Amino acid sequence: MDYLSFREYFIRIFYKNRLETYITEEHIRKFYDLTVKMVETNKVMNITALTTMDKIIPLHYADCVKAAALIPQNATVADIGCGGGFPILPLAIVRPDLNLVGIDSTEKKIRYVQNTADELGLSVTAISGRAEDLAKQTDYRDHFDVVISRAVARLNVLDELCMPFVRVGGRFFALKGAAGQEELSEAMNGIQKLGGQLQGTDEYSLFTADDEEKRVMVRIDKISATPKEYPRAFGVIKKKPL
Ligand code: SAH
Repeated sequence: MDYLSFREYFIRIFYKNRLETYITEEHIRKFYDLTVKMVETNKVMNITALTTMDKIIPLHYADCVKAAALIPQNATVADIGCGGGFPILPLAIVRPDLNLVGIDSTEKKIRYVQNTADELGLSVTAISGRAEDLAKQTDYRDHFDVVISRAVARLNVLDELCMPFVRVGGRFFALKGAAGQEELSEAMNGIQKLGGQLQGTDEYSLFTADDEEKRVMVRIDKISATPKEYPRAFGVIKKKPL
């Protein structure tokens, strides 16, 4: 993967997804460095199933950067279940104004995310732990302006993991695939119990070089504090979603 072909492909995919405001030489260089690091690390540790730039640029980078425009300036943002750094690392590249915290239960992924952010000069704090435990700590509970999450759980499970972290007046963004609307209808009851209110959904196509995939972004406002009994233990959340 040489830099010039990466650059050309990145520009093509970002234009196609109407993300042209994020195309700068500095961004492309950082995304290139991230890709090199991720593909290298992926040989010894499972970070991503996507290993070529024709997949990584649309399905990781464009997909995550699509959320960037929705986040207010200088917001404090938590990415729950950030795994190998999505969406947190792309957001850190295109939105250096944000105060970003990544949370994941897999410690070695968290070490990779912190180390990668440090190497790329991105301001990110990566914390290892289970969301349902960290959400009980006063430092994190009702704390974040924005909570965002991609590919962690169905919405009726994810909402209980994420909503406790959002401050009253803040917002939760769930990045969902084609089943987003169906997941939302299952989760409506729980969202309300957790202090949330549906603000809206955006449906759009994510374009690869020669194909497109459906995406649904669910936006939930936090209108009141999440009751103390939530989140419950993970086994209970999964077995009996709200
Ligand atoms: N958001 C990333 C990773 C998705 S994989 C992406 O879009 O590529 C799901 C990740 O969620 C895994 O890394 C897993 O360790 C993490 N995870 C699942 N349940 C969790 C929990 N209860 N608390 C914290 N992390 C969790």
